[in-house]
Amino acid sequence: MTDSSTTLLILGASGDLTRRLLLPGLGTLLREEPGRRVRVVGADRNELAPDAWRQRVCDALGEADLDRERVERLVSDTSYVRADALDREQMRELLGTCGERLVIYFALPPAVTVQVCALLEDIGVPRGTRLALEKPFGSDLATAQELNAQLLRVVPETDIFRIDHFLGVNTILNIVGIRFANRVLQPIWSHEHIERVEITYDETLALEGRAGYYDKAALLLDMIQSHLLEILAFFAMEAPATMDAEEVRSLKAQALRATQPWQRDPVIASRRARYTGGRIGERDVPDYVAEEGVDPERETETLAQLTVQLENARWAGVPFVLRSGKAIGKDNKQVEVFFREPPHIPDGFRPPSGPDRLILQIKPGAVALDLSMNAEGDPFELEQKELVATLGQPRMLPYGEVLGAILDGDPLMTIRGDEAEELWRIVEPVLAAWRQGKVPMDEYAAGSAGPAGW
Ligand code: NDP
Repeated sequence: MTDSSTTLLILGASGDLTRRLLLPGLGTLLREEPGRRVRVVGADRNELAPDAWRQRVCDALGEADLDRERVERLVSDTSYVRADALDREQMRELLGTCGERLVIYFALPPAVTVQVCALLEDIGVPRGTRLALEKPFGSDLATAQELNAQLLRVVPETDIFRIDHFLGVNTILNIVGIRFANRVLQPIWSHEHIERVEITYDETLALEGRAGYYDKAALLLDMIQSHLLEILAFFAMEAPATMDAEEVRSLKAQALRATQPWQRDPVIASRRARYTGGRIGERDVPDYVAEEGVDPERETETLAQLTVQLENARWAGVPFVLRSGKAIGKDNKQVEVFFREPPHIPDGFRPPSGPDRLILQIKPGAVALDLSMNAEGDPFELEQKELVATLGQPRMLPYGEVLGAILDGDPLMTIRGDEAEELWRIVEPVLAAWRQGKVPMDEYAAGSAGPAGW
């Protein structure tokens, strides 16, 4: 865990990701693991005075409640370099100052990242250098394959860390713990007992000033193609013998290879919608297309749903419904498992109104089990009662978990190249159907639960 001499070189250090997520995440990592040493070098084409950078680092670390002495030591060790990551000489010089144990974090626009990787192939990186990349990994299957091939010409796969910060969310890894460490759940984790699974990430947040990013990213790609399919992979994979990264990632890739749009028909399998004006709590939310920075011609959805099937013996016939929406009336971030009816309920009992359910709540973390039982009154009248366990606060921010793993060289919480390609393979037919107008764009009022009838 202690890593005395690693340099974390952040390319794109004056951008949003670094300020809002990376540095605060690093702060919580250093708070939780006081023995860890890391030198942070920020690089970006924007001019930033050394003091301004140090202040930025200091603020981010301060947010994590690190003690003053620690913050001062880290801040005195950090530096900022103005450099164009596409300039061969500037990059060569920059890498020359970073030492042997190096993590290069690409906090750059995706198109720039691709070009920088090509440049790194040319100029070379110190042996053992790790590359940390943000999604999107390519813009379709073909470009994801090209990017993977390019990366492998720079470093081996074991030194490539494709980041999905959802994998640093403690409640996601909890899915694996709950599944495999519980005698009551392990044997019933299959189509024989599970009728349907819904993986939902709905939020009340609307655009919140990020139209420039969001209108191009859209939910199918920003949420389902990455985070929700990754959750599905953890949920549906076969049992690993150990939590070794290669083993777990191979099992996840296997689950993703079995995944297809429902009935192999992207039109039946998918739905999309966009919000119109409405009210969420005390806020008035304007029509999505009226927001500044939105181009209606792009037909960006603000609610996407994709149902997939896993074509293997464990999951045959079970629909997995992946859904993510913005400006929805209520936050709902959970995995909901609907169990099949029992084969027989003794005559004389009045059956419950719904199926038994297991709910794995992602944020805030909780696990709930809805079981049929007699709670009060007539003992033959069954109803659903909920058993709930609330999970504790995560020890650090998701980016702290992810950065810690990268600094340790452990890729468990990152995405392997073949997984990244599978994620594209699954959604590409859906994207094509949407582009051809085969799936209508429904509407829902901001603050509602989504379009009527969904
Ligand atoms: P920003 O545009 O805010 O930051 C990128 C930074 O890179 C900018 O400062 C930009 O400078 C700089 N840059 C661009 N080209 C070069 C270059 N040739 N040499 C040096 N610096 C350069 O983007 P984000 O921080 O939002 O995103 C970075 C990556 O992280 C993207 O891949 C994104 O998809 C991913 N990501 C972002 C999240 C977020 O919440 N922000 C969340 C998850 C992933 P300039 O301003 O001059 O263009």
